[in-house]
Amino acid sequence: MQYDSIIIGAGLSGLTSALLLARSGRRVLVLEQHPQPAPVVRGFSRDGFYFDSGFHYAGGLAADGPFRPLFRHLGLESKLELFPFAESGFDRLQISATGETFSLPVGFAAIKAQLGKQFPAVQAEIDDYLDEIAGKWSNFPYLNLDTDIADFGIQTVHGASLQERLQVFSAYPQLQSLLSMHSLLYGVTPEVAPVSLNAQVAGSYYHSVHGIVGGGRALVAALLELLAAAGGEVRCRARVTELLVADAAIKGVRLADGEELSAAEVLVTINPAQLPELLSPGVLRPAYLKRLKNLRQTGSAYIIFAKSRRPLEFLHRSNLFIQPQAGVFTADTDCPLQERPFYLTAADQGQGEVRGLIGVVPAGYAEVAEWAAAGMRQAEGYRAHKQRIGEQLLELFAANCPELAELELLELATPLTLRDYSLAPAGAIYGVGRFLGQYNPHPVTRLPGLFLSGQAIAAPGLLGTLVAGYLTCGSILGHEYLRGEIKACC
Ligand SMILES: Cc1cc2nc3c(=O)[nH]c(=O)nc-3n(C[C@H](O)[C@H](O)[C@H](O)COP(=O)(O)OP(=O)(O)OC[C@H]3O[C@@H](n4cnc5c(N)ncnc54)[C@H](O)[C@@H]3O)c2cc1C
Repeated sequence: MQYDSIIIGAGLSGLTSALLLARSGRRVLVLEQHPQPAPVVRGFSRDGFYFDSGFHYAGGLAADGPFRPLFRHLGLESKLELFPFAESGFDRLQISATGETFSLPVGFAAIKAQLGKQFPAVQAEIDDYLDEIAGKWSNFPYLNLDTDIADFGIQTVHGASLQERLQVFSAYPQLQSLLSMHSLLYGVTPEVAPVSLNAQVAGSYYHSVHGIVGGGRALVAALLELLAAAGGEVRCRARVTELLVADAAIKGVRLADGEELSAAEVLVTINPAQLPELLSPGVLRPAYLKRLKNLRQTGSAYIIFAKSRRPLEFLHRSNLFIQPQAGVFTADTDCPLQERPFYLTAADQGQGEVRGLIGVVPAGYAEVAEWAAAGMRQAEGYRAHKQRIGEQLLELFAANCPELAELELLELATPLTLRDYSLAPAGAIYGVGRFLGQYNPHPVTRLPGLFLSGQAIAAPGLLGTLVAGYLTCGSILGHEYLRGEIKACC
């Protein structure tokens, strides 16, 4: 079968890219190894509850938000119902050691005012810092429709780390906590996280915060509907094992069952460290392939899914980050669970009363590596490990929040679950991270017809992956053409 474009991976960036290319008139096929499209974000139901897995909330989607035109351009705006998170505290922080709690209200001005009240001696520094974040996040390519795309990527390689930038608040460790807690949402610790990465992720939430009614499942359904309407196809249980190359250009892909599919363009949205395994030797320069293989990955996590006998009013449209001691966040996993920071969110926030709980706690792959081999997920030892971790985490949650005293564990995802769902090495929760000093790959490769997309290209999250789809498709269709289309939607 001859396609114009084959996209490997039906995650958010793969589906976005497929939609943009199908709309340009191309014959498009998306190939996904998992039995269902978008395994990371589609969520699941258990015991009558719907639990989101890889999508809880997004920033920058307010009516005047710079992310909104992309939503409109893709056709998602009219298919999805958004709901706002709590204006007075969309994210809250609790320091376990002291029991102190802090809230981040929605909007840069509100955050400045609130933090200024709590930390008046550094109001000027707070204003400066938030002005810097406001400027940086909205200058992200495709959010700023006139910014120089060539510069993108360089900003996150050089410059200060978030930890260095927050030194100015060293007399106020609680403030450092509040301003670094969103590092849990991109998986790079502040010590090695570029300020601009934190701006891209945290800055969007500072601007405005929304959930989607029906969560990740509704988001995926909308993308699939739009793609089908544009004539694009999706095939699941279709693992690509080889990229086919002839006459120094891409020619198609081979699947695990040996089937060959032809295409003039192939977009790879999988973890870029796995690209070298798909290519025969000599197709791309060894130095480039070595760089891809050695890209630094984000850490992994345990994700707990539980139900509460009591309504979780305190988590209604407001997430809770918990840190053992105040100070710049770390996601160190060489310590007991009780010493790690974590975040809690309620499941299915789009409806009225919420009773489902999701907790995300950093974890190291080594903690589960002994059960990594195929078939070991049924091993008694792995089940017992999951049960033990689940119980410890429920205790930890209840010790921090009395509201969580009546939880029942329904499911626990481990680094192995994350690896199985995305095929990311060591279950890297957000795939390849953007670390200071690391050059993440560019969408265009030296092999004609081969392009890269995915969270490693821009940033993790709905915003980062949609932007990644635009960056890659802009490299194919022309950035000015795509930006012109989006401008027409503004
Ligand atoms: C626990 C968790 C919570 C999150 N919460 C939020 C949130 O609240 N808000 C937010 O905006 N973002 C959130 N994210 C981040 C967001 O989910 C990710 O950034 C995003 O889903 C990544 O999309 P992607 O398309 O780049 O990658 P992926 O979703 O990993 O897509 C790549 C796809 O390629 C497939 N694949 C891999 N190898 C092959 C192969 N050889 N052949 C065929 N298919 C292959 C994989 O199965 C996968 O489906 C969260 C993520 C996690 C894990």
